[in-house]
Amino acid sequence: MKKALITGVTGQDGSYLAELLLEKGYEVYGMVRMSSLDSFSRIKNILKNNNFHILYGDMTDESSLYRAVQTSTPDEIYNLAAQSHVGLSSNFSEYTANVNALGVLRLINVVNTLGLQNKIKIYQALTSDIFGNIEDDVLNEETQIKPINPYSCAKAYAFLLTKNYREQGMYIVNGIAFAHESERRPEKFVTRKITKAAVRIKQGKQDKLSLGNINVRRDWGHAKDFVRGMYLAMQQAKPDDYVFATGITTSLKEFCIKVFSKLGMDLEFKGEGNDIKAYDAKTGKLIIDIDPQFTRKNEKLNPIGDYSKAEKILGWKPHYTIDDIIDEMVKRDLLEE
Ligand code: NAP
Repeated sequence: MKKALITGVTGQDGSYLAELLLEKGYEVYGMVRMSSLDSFSRIKNILKNNNFHILYGDMTDESSLYRAVQTSTPDEIYNLAAQSHVGLSSNFSEYTANVNALGVLRLINVVNTLGLQNKIKIYQALTSDIFGNIEDDVLNEETQIKPINPYSCAKAYAFLLTKNYREQGMYIVNGIAFAHESERRPEKFVTRKITKAAVRIKQGKQDKLSLGNINVRRDWGHAKDFVRGMYLAMQQAKPDDYVFATGITTSLKEFCIKVFSKLGMDLEFKGEGNDIKAYDAKTGKLIIDIDPQFTRKNEKLNPIGDYSKAEKILGWKPHYTIDDIIDEMVKRDLLEE
């Protein structure tokens, strides 16, 4: 039976990946940090599975990583743990670097110290944000990296580091993922902020929704598709870098229109730039306005992922559309709100 250690198992991707690997017959060790004691909501389905084990550890504490790797002796490590919020990374820049950059180094050091560098395969979760505001619109594994915030700078460090250790013979896969969502996405991310707000506005529990630049376009996929990509990438004879994306972008404005229309509300937009507002077409009530504090500086407006390498080598392609994703999120929010 293959064994996998997943860091960040309590997060969106970690929880789906744990389910996928259990289905594939793995024994799964999920690493959680002390502060996660009461945030097991995403993994409650698998907590009683005999092949699932919780280990405590933190990416900022090498001794805890040592114990986690030593106890689990995994065939595969999926390093998904991160301070994963781009906007908040400016507030917590040092912490973000500690977890997302140095945490990767610590994990690699532990594998080497234990002499397991030729036995353990590592998957490193990276982000399309490492490309920053590079001019090209369609981005792939060959695109130059140009990170523009503490989150993407830390992930760029991890990218360079893992490539370096791969050259020295370690099996390390980099997954360069575009944004991916699901009903397990936390509300601090914009898609979930929108779906939850829309449901609350519909139910009269929230007045309006404030957003940043609604003209930005995002290549949004579903987390379940992306964790399948992670697994496939780790089954190859040779480690490599793979972009996971859908190749289709949707603007934040279009996303809002789709979400509200699912709830039977048509939006009417008036104004431009920071003065643009959306009103309920039936009642004329203000629904969306712009708050510049939510606009990211220097962000690329229309990054599109080219996943042709993953398709060619892994046979991977996304199955979920943006409408499927919105459907799932809104359904869940209607149950929860
Ligand atoms: P997420 O839901 O925010 O989950 C992050 C996970 O990391 C949580 O389990 C969190 O634990 C854990 N974590 C945070 N700090 C830690 C630390 N110091 N030590 C150990 N664990 C720690 O993120 P996600 O959406 O699943 O993303 C998974 C990975 O993919 C991340 O590396 C992220 O940067 C990357 N990524 C995600 C996207 C996306 O759109 N989702 C796109 C590109 C790349 P707690 O539950 O205790 O907070």
